[in-house]
Amino acid sequence: MKLNTNENPYPPSPKALAAYEAFDVSSLRLYPPLPMRALREAVAQAEGVAPENVFCGNGSDEILALCFPAFFDEGGEGAAFADITYSFYPVFCAFFGVPCTQVPLEEDFTLDLNKLSAAKAQGLLVANPNAPTGIGIPLTEIEAFVRKNSGRIVIVDEAYMPFFGQSAVPLTKKYENLLVVKTFSKGYSLAGMRCGYAVGNAALIGGLERCRDSFNSYPVDSVCQAVCAAAIGDGAYYEEKNALVVSERERLTAELAERGFTVLPSKANFVFARHGAVGGREVYAQLRARGVLVRHFEKPRISEFCRITVGSREQNDALLSALDEFLPR
Ligand code: PMP
Repeated sequence: MKLNTNENPYPPSPKALAAYEAFDVSSLRLYPPLPMRALREAVAQAEGVAPENVFCGNGSDEILALCFPAFFDEGGEGAAFADITYSFYPVFCAFFGVPCTQVPLEEDFTLDLNKLSAAKAQGLLVANPNAPTGIGIPLTEIEAFVRKNSGRIVIVDEAYMPFFGQSAVPLTKKYENLLVVKTFSKGYSLAGMRCGYAVGNAALIGGLERCRDSFNSYPVDSVCQAVCAAAIGDGAYYEEKNALVVSERERLTAELAERGFTVLPSKANFVFARHGAVGGREVYAQLRARGVLVRHFEKPRISEFCRITVGSREQNDALLSALDEFLPR
């Protein structure tokens, strides 16, 4: 049972599946449509922005990667982000020669945005909700942060926003230094399709396009464009499914607490939990021995925790039963 990479337990929307079935395979002879008009229009409509303000990529990982050559100078002032956040940020910094400043999270694993604002850096990255903690930052605080940093780019990674519902996308119309990055992997149950998008003002989108075109002009294939456009047009289906994930998250949090876990208050589709008596590595290993995969990070401050994806009700029950087999009563 795979509860280690935060996939959605529910299938993609029937409309997305129908688009896949209806796809004209003979058109695969041709390169994918550029500039991805239909997909960008579908995203723009769902997000309430214009297609010129949308960039699509091969997963949000690719977009986040492109942000470094697009918006940061090699050997410049660099990027700043939390010490405990998405582990790809420092990897991208190292790969693209961008120095990085890691701002420690508070004792309770919240991020003090004032401390991040104080960092000397060319641009700032925030995952909201954060990973692997799951902690969300209210939109009002994000807006104050973006306003305060108007002289430099602020990138908000909203991979888990479908389980929080306080997206900063509307702010992109007001603040030209804000880029919001989202994905089809979590909230749209399409991790295997590999598609993500960014929303921001046309100059930022143009920067991403120039970097993309220096590397791979067609990162989003034709099938993917058709399926994702159909998926994002079926908001009602996903709202219902993601609400189930959120209610299961709350149930799982309570059930874990009853079993002696401290669970950080998650706004994502996973929980980050530490047991009072059994170490993080041991919880991970015991679950693994029972066929349940969760994520454990051998890192300072968080090595006693496991990150557990919220599954379907049945999966969560199976996880809890597996825990009951080895946790002290
Ligand atoms: N941002 C965060 C915070 C993530 O956890 C992930 C998924 N591991 C991603 C971005 C990338 O997701 P994808 O490439 O599937 O869009």
